[in-house]
Amino acid sequence: MNTFVLATHNQHKIEEFNAILGELIPGITVIGYDGPEPVEDGVSFAENALIKARAAAAHTGLPSLSDDSGLCVEVLGGAPGIFSARWAGAKKDNAANVQLLLDQLSDVRDGDRGAHFTCHIAVVNPETSEEFVVVGNWPGTLAKEVHGVNGFGYDPIFIPEGYEVTAAILDPAEKNALSHRARALRALAERLSS
Ligand code: IMP
Repeated sequence: MNTFVLATHNQHKIEEFNAILGELIPGITVIGYDGPEPVEDGVSFAENALIKARAAAAHTGLPSLSDDSGLCVEVLGGAPGIFSARWAGAKKDNAANVQLLLDQLSDVRDGDRGAHFTCHIAVVNPETSEEFVVVGNWPGTLAKEVHGVNGFGYDPIFIPEGYEVTAAILDPAEKNALSHRARALRALAERLSS
């Protein structure tokens, strides 16, 4: 299993997967997939990642990967969770999502603003029918207002554990080395090479 299809149209994600996995497993190649997108109607990150990886595997006949990520806020019982991309409505609007979350947490005091980003990566091998999911979590707390312009999504309000600034202030290379995706990719590399 040296070539994997990644179920995404996002070129940046393909590059990130190649960079991190390629460093840990020499010879591995991740290629994009632009087949039909399945409906992501799972009730968990793992289910949604598996739905996308199974569709890519069925369409290409090749070992396939897919990731599903989001922000889980402790005081909201894990929300926005799988609804992170569309928390403020059907349209993907990062600024509206962040503002809604800040409003929902307006009365929550500093010590209770814990949250984590999570990334679940599913692997489906159509030749062996093997399927598994690895997870990377990035713990932190939520700021009371936006800070920084780097990154995307909830980065301007997410203060990683051990830091005093948001992920949107961190240098992008530093964020990419620390993030939930990097952690999940390292777990994937470990699993694939064992
Ligand atoms: P996806 O599964 O990678 O498309 O992520 C779903 C949603 O989770 C995104 O639209 C963002 O709202 C949020 N999210 C995932 N990863 C990050 C991140 O690294 N920073 C900020 N927000 C993120």
